[in-house]
Amino acid sequence: MQIDKSIFRKKFAQYFLKDKNIAKKIVNNLSFKNYDTVVEIGPGLGILTQYLLNNPYHQVFLIEIDKKLISFLKKTFPIYNHRIIHKDFLKWNPKESNLHKFAVIGNFPYNISSQILFHILEYNQYIQECIGMFQKELVKRIISHKGKKTYGILSVLIQIFYNVKYLFTVKEHVFFPRTNVKSAVISLKRKNEIISCNKNLLFQCVKTAFNQRRKKLKNSLQLFKHISNFDKIPFLNKRAEELSVNEFIQLTKEIEIRK
Ligand code: SAH
Repeated sequence: MQIDKSIFRKKFAQYFLKDKNIAKKIVNNLSFKNYDTVVEIGPGLGILTQYLLNNPYHQVFLIEIDKKLISFLKKTFPIYNHRIIHKDFLKWNPKESNLHKFAVIGNFPYNISSQILFHILEYNQYIQECIGMFQKELVKRIISHKGKKTYGILSVLIQIFYNVKYLFTVKEHVFFPRTNVKSAVISLKRKNEIISCNKNLLFQCVKTAFNQRRKKLKNSLQLFKHISNFDKIPFLNKRAEELSVNEFIQLTKEIEIRK
């Protein structure tokens, strides 16, 4: 694909994928099951979009922050103009587009990847699936398990709500401009079971515990020390990095019943 170099803007972390086969492979990983809509975040010059639009059974929404790219996309895909949204994805709420069950796809802007994941978690009741390209370093954190250095807030929260699968690695030279680091594509499939604890409290517990990851939970969770029988909460002698994803749910439940 020919890319007009004057269009590139660093502040929006624009690294355009040049390789059509990789683009096709990313799109082909969507299951197109349990939803009728796909939302692409940061379509850029539309390399993924062209393959998404090949599927006639699903409607496609594009959310792009850069005005210049919005005009390019509207010219390239004129019949979809009403679903090309000029907006910061982090400020977008599915309700404003009247969406209920959908998938998210993107070669995501690397500078806000973690925030994108938190935004997906916020609306997880709507987002059935996500196929996304991230920096490989971030992917390592998402798929990590207890006891590993890379295990943290994102690993726990994403794995509570989604089944995560590593799909493939993408090298630096397939982008314009070339990236400095490797990328990786992953799939997140929403878990059907409803979590049995309060979601806000769960987020608070996980974040607070990992903010001081080397401390035992009895110290890192001081925020909750006023609740009744705080000392009886299990796992207090463990550190955040030693707790499995399910143990975090259990821990939250124990705090919840004492509040
Ligand atoms: N998907 C394209 C572009 C990837 S670069 C490709 O694979 O070639 C990242 C894209 O995300 C750019 O188009 C950039 O303008 C867009 N972007 C950056 N921040 C954004 C935000 N907050 N909301 C929506 N789009 C954003």
